[in-house]
Amino acid sequence: MTQISHHATSNALIRHHMAVKERLCAINDQYQIHPKAVLLAVSKTRPSSDIATLYQAGQGDFGENYLQEALIKMSELAHLPITWHYIGHIQRNKTKDIATHFDWVQTVERDIIAKRLNDQRPDELPPLNVLIQINIDDEMSKSGCHIDELDELIKVIISLPKLTLRGLMIIPNKDGTDAFVRTKALFDDIKARFNLAQFDTLSMGMSGDMEQALAHGSTMVRVGTAIFGKRD
Ligand SMILES: *Cc1c(COP(=O)(O)O)cnc(C)c1O
Repeated sequence: MTQISHHATSNALIRHHMAVKERLCAINDQYQIHPKAVLLAVSKTRPSSDIATLYQAGQGDFGENYLQEALIKMSELAHLPITWHYIGHIQRNKTKDIATHFDWVQTVERDIIAKRLNDQRPDELPPLNVLIQINIDDEMSKSGCHIDELDELIKVIISLPKLTLRGLMIIPNKDGTDAFVRTKALFDDIKARFNLAQFDTLSMGMSGDMEQALAHGSTMVRVGTAIFGKRD
């Protein structure tokens, strides 16, 4: 009985994942996105078994928000060469574990955090890929680097040998169009002014607005609900 329902669940998961990939392919083709935009599966609150199922179905990139939860899944899935992205808020006392266990960190917003990640990245690992999270709607309550502090933070990050600045990330307000357009303009401007060869990632768009984000230049969508269903 448990066996049957487990299979039913993993079949539904693969079906939903396939549907999201098809939506992504359609947009990649429509807007001729080069290189093709990446799907990040946001697996917070989901069990390791779901991640393993999707990995077998070809999904290589997973995003996690909560460090303790992520570390447990990583140890359970250590046999799979998954690319792990940290997308949660970074507390100063958590940087060592983040620098040690993740491949990407999408939520860098302060120089002190960037310096700690650099200092704590193990020497035997390649540089940590980082995105600067921008507070694009300039909200007091939201995380992210303010636009007027962006250049300073970029200068710090590109001086750090164990970090590679790969791009920008945003979590916009309800309707993202204006934020998507402004972030894409910032992205192009930074790439031109700082002449960064590997600055290639614009992480914006989630389950509810992935098409809209991709239409405005996103190169990575972070999708949870549309793949895994509603979270509790
Ligand atoms: C949870 C989360 C997502 C996924 O959101 P869905 O609406 O479930 O697709 C994407 N990005 C971040 C930063 C998140 O915390």
